[in-house]
Amino acid sequence: MSYVIEGGTGAWEVVIGLEVHAQVVSQAKLFSGAATAFGAEPNTQVSFVDAAFPGMLPVINRECVAQAVRTGLGLGAHINLVSRFDRKNYFYADLPPGYQISQYQHPIVGAGVIEIELADGSTKSIGVTRLHLEQDAGKSLHDQHPTKSYIDLNRAGVALMEIVSEPDLRSPEEAGAYLRKLRTILRYLGTCDGNMEEGSMRADVNVSVRKHGEPFRTRCEVKNVNSVRFVMQAIEVEAKRQVEIWEAGGAVDQETRLFDAARGITRSMRSKEEAHDYRYFPDPDLLPLVLDEAWIAELKAALPELPDAKRRRFMQQYGLPFYDSAVLVAEQATADYYETVARGRDAKLAANWVMGDLFAALNRTGRTIETSPVPAAALGALLDLMADNTINGRIAKEVFEAMVDTGEAPGAIVERKGLRQVTDTGAIDAAVAAVLAANPEKLAEYRSGKEKLFGFFVGQVMKAMAGKGNPALVNDALKRQLG
Ligand code: ADP
Ligand code: MG
Repeated sequence: MSYVIEGGTGAWEVVIGLEVHAQVVSQAKLFSGAATAFGAEPNTQVSFVDAAFPGMLPVINRECVAQAVRTGLGLGAHINLVSRFDRKNYFYADLPPGYQISQYQHPIVGAGVIEIELADGSTKSIGVTRLHLEQDAGKSLHDQHPTKSYIDLNRAGVALMEIVSEPDLRSPEEAGAYLRKLRTILRYLGTCDGNMEEGSMRADVNVSVRKHGEPFRTRCEVKNVNSVRFVMQAIEVEAKRQVEIWEAGGAVDQETRLFDAARGITRSMRSKEEAHDYRYFPDPDLLPLVLDEAWIAELKAALPELPDAKRRRFMQQYGLPFYDSAVLVAEQATADYYETVARGRDAKLAANWVMGDLFAALNRTGRTIETSPVPAAALGALLDLMADNTINGRIAKEVFEAMVDTGEAPGAIVERKGLRQVTDTGAIDAAVAAVLAANPEKLAEYRSGKEKLFGFFVGQVMKAMAGKGNPALVNDALKRQLG
């Protein structure tokens, strides 16, 4: 099921590597005590260090370092006990010092791996090259005044983790799965909120194309793409653009491009010749970062159960298929909700209800699992009413809808609406007899061999009993009276 782009000269394979900028969850910035909360009034969260006042010195925030280490551990990556901060020099109005403090040759985290899950049920391991810590820049606001640009430095100095993948991805779908999985892991770890709309996760997308078996060709980098869907679209259009160039006998230039979502194209931002020379050098204001192995071990011991481990446990403990487990662990809150419902109950039935009826209800009401109109315990109580034969599966759907609408407990709804299942065989026999008497032609057809009419009779009996008949008893009674 490999993804290729067909050209006049045959099929082209797409090669993708992602550089993801993930904003670190922390109260304060990487080198200052200024706050990091999203949505504050412009320039209210800026220290003298962030504004690059002369003589101000950076002091590293231990929590940001811990967050990077946790992330590295969560990606099964090598933690470098010694890393270093460098200055990446460039001029921009939203960068008061004239340089960004980043990690260049000596990142805090080395090679790791992310396992992605694909639609056909297969998995693939994608290499992570490195993770390094760096500062975010400020933000230029061009739409506040007709002739002036304003600068908001709230974001200046906020800690980012840049997470670089190997060029192991081969399709838009794989890139999307990688981003979603990375986001899930970061959220489990609590190291980045993964909120792409607020810009706390953005991706630079490196794309090249090649004929199967060839060495890599020249890549282009599409900068700052801010949603999973846009990353997938950008790859598709950029790969097609490159195929057309190669097919026409041209050559792809290595360059930085921008994705224009409105027009569905990428366009050039700067070519390799215009590429910045950042003049990296070690920041003289910061010592090399030396980590203590015991501290790393402490952080490791405190990590939560991560998505892959949880998925494996769900498969084993609850006997769920791979797909169900993967869906249920995608969000920590969903996994917790599921476990509350499943504990001590039919685990597969619980999974079906969570992934089917509950997800549909959340969609319909615009709620999340955290604000679900039906709490986990209430859904569990509904399953109990089915298990002890108080209601049948069909009525359960009706009760569930009422739970979503009213927030009432399932037992109360069943009593109020009189939905208890009928298990009285006398009443069932009477309903069956009435249905057979009312449908003499269908009965004759059935008796002359048209056995699939059995379903018709079941439906009629259920209808006559307002859906409340016990399905097994209805089946028995029908078989007896028809036979
Ligand atoms: P740079 O230092 O210029 O950013 P890197 O070697 O760090 O270059 O690579 C940046 C990203 O580009 C990585 O995610 C990597 O996987 C990806 N990449 C490298 N070569 C290719 C290629 N030929 N096609 C697609 N992506 C590539
Ligand atoms: Mg790069």
